[in-house]
Amino acid sequence: MTKTERTYLDWNATAPVLPAAREAFVAALDMVGNPSSVHGEGRALRMLVEAARRDVAALVDTAPSHVIFTSGATEAANLVLTPDYRMGRTPLAIGHLYVCEIEHPAIREGGRFAREDVTSIPVTPAGIVDLDALETLLQGHDKARGLPMVAVMLANNETGIVQPAAAVAAIVHRHGGLFVVDAVQAAGRMPIELEALGADFLIISSHKLGGPKGAGALVSKGEVLMPVPLIRGGGQEKGHRSGTENPAALAGFAAAARFAAADIAERNARIGALRDALEAGMRAVTNDVVIHGAQVERIANTSFFSLPDLKSETGQIAFDLEGIALSAGSACSSGKVGQSHVLTAMGFDAALGGLRVSLGPGSTGADVERFLAAFARVVSRRRMTGNAA
Ligand code: PLP
Repeated sequence: MTKTERTYLDWNATAPVLPAAREAFVAALDMVGNPSSVHGEGRALRMLVEAARRDVAALVDTAPSHVIFTSGATEAANLVLTPDYRMGRTPLAIGHLYVCEIEHPAIREGGRFAREDVTSIPVTPAGIVDLDALETLLQGHDKARGLPMVAVMLANNETGIVQPAAAVAAIVHRHGGLFVVDAVQAAGRMPIELEALGADFLIISSHKLGGPKGAGALVSKGEVLMPVPLIRGGGQEKGHRSGTENPAALAGFAAAARFAAADIAERNARIGALRDALEAGMRAVTNDVVIHGAQVERIANTSFFSLPDLKSETGQIAFDLEGIALSAGSACSSGKVGQSHVLTAMGFDAALGGLRVSLGPGSTGADVERFLAAFARVVSRRRMTGNAA
């Protein structure tokens, strides 16, 4: 292998930009005007933004008017996670936020809720939200302070484990609460129907789908019950998110959403076969490898594993030197490799951490082979020196 040859296996951190998304992005950049202007130039951009809204809505099977564009999933989370709602014009209070322990920090930080108004919902050792614990928490919820809000992701970014959204929704709604679903990693990797999930709000991000970074959406079930805006100003996005829209990013996001919605079963069957080959290959090299979530439903592209005596930071560097880009859990703050809160929540020895391989539509059998050859070298070095990788 030449020094420059790289194998990108970190699609959950961000997906390479799709050619169609790049094309749409560049074409929109060349359009003059502001989507809010009434002249022809402005109207052309307005049409582009509204077409993007239709594509993003279609990805989660809802009406375009339910889509609010944001600068990404983190902003969408900060918009939706607030104690201050309006039912039409009437203020409505949310008293407490319950977030699953394994949520991405974008959600786990609790948005605009005060720290003391945020409670964690545990997961079982299998990495699935503990429904009994959720029931107990909501039974104890003090409705005098406002409604409960519950946030549980659809697919975990580290393990890929799929959460039982409809069962969560049933419990939340029985207690009169609102249900927020982070579908960032699930979008394009499993069919998503907002209504069938029972979500009141859903969050998606462009760059996980092969669109540009810096675009995302908060998708709502209706248009009446809405959070008080996070960003106020000129009243764009029907007043829910002010600021001139970014038509280029939205055009790219839309192209990625169209790609994600099409041929989802075939694409994920192919990616799942690659992931299965990768996991079988790791097990053939060593019985010591622990694959997290292998016994439960996962999205097809993700494999999160641990090796005894191999710290995730060390492993990540070893693979990087082998020309393989993978991740030690989530990669949200630059260069920081922290302990995996997901493994801790699952009761695994988090001090060791885990390594995440995540594949995508552009992944190939050759990628898997290169990974497995590197894996065998990392494991044998570790055997020779104890922990030399
Ligand atoms: N939620 C999940 C599950 C994620 O994996 C990420 C990104 O890693 C985010 C939210 C944040 O998305 P964005 O980068 O669009 O702010």
